[in-house]
Amino acid sequence: MTDVLRLTVLGSASPYPRAGNPCSGYLVEGGGTRLWMDAGSGTLGALREHVGLGRLDGIWISHLHADHCADLLTAYYGLLYADVELAAPVPLPAPPGIADRLAGFLTNGPRRSPVEDAFRIVELHDHHRAHLGGLTLTSRAVSHGMPAFGLRVETEDGARLAYSGDSAPCDALTALAALADGCATLLCEADLAQPSPAGTEAVHHTPEDAGRTAATAAAHRLVVTHLGPFLDPSEAVHRAATHYTGPVKYAAPGRTFEVART
Ligand SMILES: [Zn+2]
Repeated sequence: MTDVLRLTVLGSASPYPRAGNPCSGYLVEGGGTRLWMDAGSGTLGALREHVGLGRLDGIWISHLHADHCADLLTAYYGLLYADVELAAPVPLPAPPGIADRLAGFLTNGPRRSPVEDAFRIVELHDHHRAHLGGLTLTSRAVSHGMPAFGLRVETEDGARLAYSGDSAPCDALTALAALADGCATLLCEADLAQPSPAGTEAVHHTPEDAGRTAATAAAHRLVVTHLGPFLDPSEAVHRAATHYTGPVKYAAPGRTFEVART
């Protein structure tokens, strides 16, 4: 059996949606399983162009910045109060504290909103590993100045995708992408147009950093995403390619990448 992973970009804008490009969110399909990976603002509508909310097998959230998780709020309405017939709460691996964070926003009366009726929340930790249908998910704590995770998604057949979430370059992210023979595709953020000023903690990659991370991890392909407002896609791809000899692509909204086994 050949389990190809399909990565569809629902949105890749930072830090707020652009016209025609929601914030961070991706549909990952493989092994008969459908995963919504980050739920940034605007991505739920884009997701529904590909799969109904009730047909998702799980949702994975990298960190609790709104541009990566805001659409969980309206997904909650869809799952509990609309046309979705929910057999069981949707598995939601996510950073610690997410249940109370969602409830804080969703509760409008004396009774706490039943967040757990919509989502089966599993709190992430470094090296968290979970099986979701035909996919194996491995999460690593990465460097973003707050609890934040990167993710490796694997099929049983060995197709591997690594995703930075939001992070500065760090060993955990490189390890996530470098395991075994390297991942087939590294989806890496490149938010910064310029390096962080000396003496400040970096919390994002520049395009050059993304190229270096892909090269160090021996990734077979780099897809740059989460470009900040002062970067355009062709510039980001060109700059990343100055530090990485493999193919570099831009995570254009609506684009699908096939990830074969390595
Ligand atoms: Zn962030």
